[in-house]
Amino acid sequence: MSRQRSHDYSKPYLDEYLGTLTTPVLTQRASPDGGGVVVSGACPRCHGRTETEHRRGVPGTGSKGIFDRLVGQRGTPPEPEPEPLVGEVHFCECGHPHPQLPPDPGFVGCGASWRFQP
Ligand SMILES: [Zn+2]
Ligand SMILES: [Zn+2]
Repeated sequence: MSRQRSHDYSKPYLDEYLGTLTTPVLTQRASPDGGGVVVSGACPRCHGRTETEHRRGVPGTGSKGIFDRLVGQRGTPPEPEPEPLVGEVHFCECGHPHPQLPPDPGFVGCGASWRFQP
């Protein structure tokens, strides 16, 4: 019953959306500089370790200034914002050039993408 499976390096690259997973394969934590969150874990397809940083308050996304609100106004609950862990599509970024990797892949990995909804 090992939950930790080893990275399947021989799995060919396939741009494949795996759908919405209910198994928590990823976890998130604050990024080192505090400007976003880092979502990391094991790819559900190739089982390689993947890590993606999601920036917060990026101009143009409409979420500008969330940290001003969080820091400046204690007592005022910040507006709930969907966590990247459940709000974003995740892509395998295991960093291993899987066989048949296209010349200009969006992410170096096995091509899997998925959402997570507990
Ligand atoms: Zn993968
Ligand atoms: Zn991989």
